[in-house]
Amino acid sequence: MTTSPALSGRDLTRVFTTPSGDVHALTEVSLEVHPGELLVVRGPSGSGKTTLLNLLGGLDRPTSGEVWIGDAELTAMSEGDLLDVRRRRLSYIFQSFGLIPVLSAAENVEVPLRLVETPGEERDRRVQQALELVGLGPHANQRPYELSGGQQQRVGIARALASEPEILIADEPTGQLDSATAATIMDLLSELVHERGLAAVVSTHDPLLMHRADRVLELHDGHAQRRGRHSAA
Ligand code: ADP
Ligand code: MG
Repeated sequence: MTTSPALSGRDLTRVFTTPSGDVHALTEVSLEVHPGELLVVRGPSGSGKTTLLNLLGGLDRPTSGEVWIGDAELTAMSEGDLLDVRRRRLSYIFQSFGLIPVLSAAENVEVPLRLVETPGEERDRRVQQALELVGLGPHANQRPYELSGGQQQRVGIARALASEPEILIADEPTGQLDSATAATIMDLLSELVHERGLAAVVSTHDPLLMHRADRVLELHDGHAQRRGRHSAA
């Protein structure tokens, strides 16, 4: 691999302090994702997937260890700089889609572009392009409740792509979908990641979804067990 990683985690440890004692959610996990690569994080419920993705996306800070986005250390940034990275360089896709029910598909996709004050014409262009990319051009004016689960997640993907991020983070994006729809959503994600040169981290507990992965990271009780490329087919 000649490129340098778009996203890396070094010795990430997260301990939650609770009234009933410390919870070691993640212990010294390291990973690298290069542009155009899809890393699938796999593990049973409670193995630390969400904890890891939250650290990688700057939604939470590690107890120890570092997260790097290119050559910038996320874990050393001020809250202001972190917010800027989260809005401009990184996008999230959520298990529960995270759509705003009163807004149309197009308006949902537009939200993050408004946050970074993308000018109107450019905004319209990117919204339409993102919806077409996920096959939802004809559904732009429908609200979430008028769309199927798979279509709603396509809106979530379009919203994540509209800001043209370098990094995509998706925490069990197919967790609420039937297995056939889940497979089409994973296919779409992997196609977009490879076509657009994104660095993506996607978690799942579904082994059937792993063959789209370029790398697989397996978590067991917060510990990583890394496998090689394409080893999961
Ligand atoms: P997964 O996403 O793989 O299901 P999580 O990352 O959500 O796993 O959780 C990993 C472990 O950390 C679990 O034991 C969970 O109960 C614990 N955990 C997660 N978040 C917190 C928190 N905010 N406070 C205390 N314990 C937590
Ligand atoms: Mg989780």
